[in-house]
Amino acid sequence: MTDYEIAVIPGDGIGPEVVDAALAVLKECEARYGLKINYTFHDFSADLYRRTGRKITAADMDEIAKADAVLFGAMGLPDVRGPEGLELGAQVEMRAHYGLFSSLRPVRLFAGVESPVKAKNVDMLVIRETSEGMFAGLGDEHEPSDESASDRMTITRATCEKLFDVAFSQARARRKRGTPGHVTLLHKSNALRSNVLMEKVFDEVAAKNDDIGSAKFYIDAGAMYMVTDPQRYDVIVTENIFGDIVSEIAAGLVGGLGVAPSADVNLTHGVFQPSHGSAPDIAGQGIANPTAMILSAAMMLEWLGERRGDDRCAKAAQSIQEAVESTLASGPRARDLGGTANTREVVDAVIDALPA
Ligand code: ATP
Repeated sequence: MTDYEIAVIPGDGIGPEVVDAALAVLKECEARYGLKINYTFHDFSADLYRRTGRKITAADMDEIAKADAVLFGAMGLPDVRGPEGLELGAQVEMRAHYGLFSSLRPVRLFAGVESPVKAKNVDMLVIRETSEGMFAGLGDEHEPSDESASDRMTITRATCEKLFDVAFSQARARRKRGTPGHVTLLHKSNALRSNVLMEKVFDEVAAKNDDIGSAKFYIDAGAMYMVTDPQRYDVIVTENIFGDIVSEIAAGLVGGLGVAPSADVNLTHGVFQPSHGSAPDIAGQGIANPTAMILSAAMMLEWLGERRGDDRCAKAAQSIQEAVESTLASGPRARDLGGTANTREVVDAVIDALPA
């Protein structure tokens, strides 16, 4: 009897390398916690498109959605572009198809990792809206030409309400482990009409959640505070393109993309992938830092456990986090963190550090 069905999409570049690493850790946890997980592999990638012209379709996504969750490496290669000249990746299609609207990107400064800023205690969750803004191309009737091109930012009340509900409930859930319970909206309502609506809905939702503190900053000032005073943040919530940028600043504060996990979730679907992309510059060398992907797999177990009330998943997720923490503190260090370890050495160390 299988407990969980997981769809695995290794994707491009370092995607397959870090996915292999996360699977090795998951398999170890299955044995320790009596979990039976069945993995189904799906070979969609920009590379496949380059070779065969095959893209992910709605039917493929329906098939993938039969699984309990999706473990996703990375997709897209800078030289593989679709008919509109944009880099190809299935993330945007999957978010639209599954109705995923928020990407959760927690960052924490682990002992043993040096932050480029003076901060000692960075522990924040960036929540990026992922279905609207400028990436979704909603209602954009302007055809680009050689002389002019435009992208439109669209934000709706319905999505804002769902997004801010997620932000306040995440702040409440995080408080159980000692965080202050606070949500900050980063926006640009002094320049963008869409953000005026976003700010208005934020105020309404904040008023209904007055057990949780809240604040609002313009995105420019807010980005500066992330670097000068990151401790002022607990949960940050923001629109799509700001979130894309701000989540990478957050990752930079705690050691870079190699240690930054992410989860795109709603009540029915969850896609778990590292915050980083396919990193073609280091692909195929076996040197990618697998930590972000391993932590994303831990987020997947946590999510599955919460939905099914399955304590084994919660325990496995906790063990992975502890093992990663102890490896970062005293184990082999990947190259992006200033060490010399390759992917395999980091994974072996994480597996060795899993609590008995
Ligand atoms: P995307 O547009 O798909 O988000 P990107 O253009 O932001 O991708 P990434 O692929 O995330 O770029 O890589 C950015 C930089 O970070 C590259 O120099 C890459 O080598 C490095 N990097 C990303 N992930 C890792 C990792 N897991 N280990 C080591 N270095 C990484």
